[in-house]
Amino acid sequence: MRLAEATKKITELFEKNSLANAAKEAEFFMREVLNISLTDFVLQKDKTLSPQQATALLQKAQRRASGEPLAYIVGHKDFFKERFVVNPSVLIPRADTEVLVEEALRIVPIPKRITDLGTGSGCIGLSLLQEWPQSHLTAIDVSLEAIHLAQENAHSLGLLQRVEFVCGDVLTQKFTELFDLVVSNPPYISPEDTRLENTVALYEPHAALYAEENGLFFYKRWTPWAKKHLRAGGWLIYECGEGQASELESICLQNGFKNIKIIKDLASKDRVVVAQMPVAQMPDDQRSPHG
Ligand code: GLN
Repeated sequence: MRLAEATKKITELFEKNSLANAAKEAEFFMREVLNISLTDFVLQKDKTLSPQQATALLQKAQRRASGEPLAYIVGHKDFFKERFVVNPSVLIPRADTEVLVEEALRIVPIPKRITDLGTGSGCIGLSLLQEWPQSHLTAIDVSLEAIHLAQENAHSLGLLQRVEFVCGDVLTQKFTELFDLVVSNPPYISPEDTRLENTVALYEPHAALYAEENGLFFYKRWTPWAKKHLRAGGWLIYECGEGQASELESICLQNGFKNIKIIKDLASKDRVVVAQMPVAQMPDDQRSPHG
């Protein structure tokens, strides 16, 4: 079978299974599975696939047609400037999360010590390390599978020497040296939220998606932890879900953070909350009653 024929067959399969933009999706699928650029895809249209290649391709297309995310089928996802290995034990890195990375790079002075809470594939913390060659990362996750994957990603990016991996609950971790930056994209979807796409709930790890207390569970617990573990003037940057930014802002304010900023994602929804630890605490009697 030629590449063009396979693409046509897969487009039809995707159409039959009501995948949005079937033709585009099929083309992207082919390029990702065969690991070829758009130019090569166009140039190699007449290339013949061996029967084994064609069978493997169609089997994967069948999985995609049933709704499985492409990233799990091909085992990787591009995020920010790098390719990350993924598997169903971690959330697939999202384009919206790149907003968090960009904002951190824009506003935080080069930090010495960063921690990424609920690191998953490691996409946030490792992307930051790539840009800040002097920084050190503590990547924490409760899932051992996620830690193994983040280690694999750190290894392939040549960053292993600058990362400390911790498997466990954030709240039980104590560090003697303070951090300059805490970043996190915690689970934030309320279990009652019905807006989540079916395929996300079906394929991605629930522990990485859902949080009790209207999705605020981790913000409420990790913000006091961040307060204890950040140096004066240090930064806390969270990703949050639709409609959570103002409640998250209140949580940060209640914990003594200041300079709160809310940043929108690519769809103009509030997505990232930035907060800073005060540079120096003013004694209470010198504070104005209005703040
Ligand atoms: N930090 C990872 C990401 O942003 C994992 C997030 C999570 O599991 N909630 O993709």
